[in-house]
Amino acid sequence: MKIHEYQAKEIFGKYGLPIPKGEVVTTPDEARNIAVRYEKPVMIKAQVHVGGRGKAGGIKYCKEPDDAFFAAQEILGMDIKGLIVKKVLVTEAVDIKSEAYVGVIVDRVTKRNVIMVSPAGGIDIEEVAAKTPEKIMKLGVDPLLGLLPYEALKLARFVYPDIKIARSAGGVIRKLYDAFVHSDASLAEINPLVLNNQDDLVALDAKINLDDSALFRHPDYENLRDLDAEDPAEMEAKRNDLSYVKLNGNIGCCVNGAGLAMATMDLVKHFGGEPANFLDIGGSSSPEKVLAAMKIILNDPNVVVILFNIFGGITRCDDVANGMVWAVEKLNPRVPIVVRLTGTNEDKAKKILEKLDLSATSSMEDVVKMAVNEARSVV
Ligand code: GDP
Ligand code: MN
Repeated sequence: MKIHEYQAKEIFGKYGLPIPKGEVVTTPDEARNIAVRYEKPVMIKAQVHVGGRGKAGGIKYCKEPDDAFFAAQEILGMDIKGLIVKKVLVTEAVDIKSEAYVGVIVDRVTKRNVIMVSPAGGIDIEEVAAKTPEKIMKLGVDPLLGLLPYEALKLARFVYPDIKIARSAGGVIRKLYDAFVHSDASLAEINPLVLNNQDDLVALDAKINLDDSALFRHPDYENLRDLDAEDPAEMEAKRNDLSYVKLNGNIGCCVNGAGLAMATMDLVKHFGGEPANFLDIGGSSSPEKVLAAMKIILNDPNVVVILFNIFGGITRCDDVANGMVWAVEKLNPRVPIVVRLTGTNEDKAKKILEKLDLSATSSMEDVVKMAVNEARSVV
């Protein structure tokens, strides 16, 4: 789950990280009031779940309270990379001597939490990694020992040669690591970590991605969810207990089981097609779930064919077939459907599908080839 900068800063604050004071608002008047109260220049910052807000015009420096009013007026309602700004953060402006990067991610290859630091902050870390990888220092944290103080100091020294500043940056890195671990994040990032004219460190920006699978351990995080900012199709899928991830291809995939869904996408690619989505309707699929799945797939305008790949174990093929009949009657799909069904109640299912003039194959390879050919004939 992605959360907003102001929410990430709240969490960072609880772990003792230095964050500038700020408040989130939804109207220009409130923005002005805060600027009046702070009695100093403020930044108005768009709260949307994407980076690069600065470049997109979603961050403005405001010397006077009236500037804050007009900046908020301009930024609220702005479209940043397809997301509409509904809230802005009003935060005290910080003077900047240098900008660094500090982040923690889960690295699947080394199976460790990896801390990354760079003196080249304020820009995309991917860009730094691609163009000047020598400006990044990485450390995989031992899961049993945790982050050791000297390791944090070593990372900090890479960014700040001055030992006094490095000591304080070492503290920032340790607190960030604490915040990352205890909030069950998959990513925690300060970009930029700013050194101001008084040589104090400030987390000017904050990003945390929370691990969905660990949210049950943090009931208080549920109200951090911003329904406006989530992908509507993925929300709809979640409501119906389906796992859905939108991709950029044109073959809509409807599969039972995450492993089979991955294998289906691999095979689609193998035969030269492009999946429009990952969709796992789950192990015990009811007709209702099939209807919901078809609805989500058909809402994607790129989809030119729907590929069903059902391996009936606990899932009963006739349940899925009934769902398909129901969905076709209700949704009147604009695209052809190809079906592979095998396993529990396969014969019953095939009879049911005759009603739709659909023939189901038992071979995964055949059905994927059919889908790819169908997609090719359309494009
Ligand atoms: P992002 O573009 O979405 O990553 O948003 P950031 O919060 O990282 O801000 C982008 C850039 O705006 C920073 O790298 C700074 O250069 C600038 N910026 C943001 N807040 C301040 C501030 O308080 N003072 C100054 N001088 N610049 C700021
Ligand atoms: Mn940033």
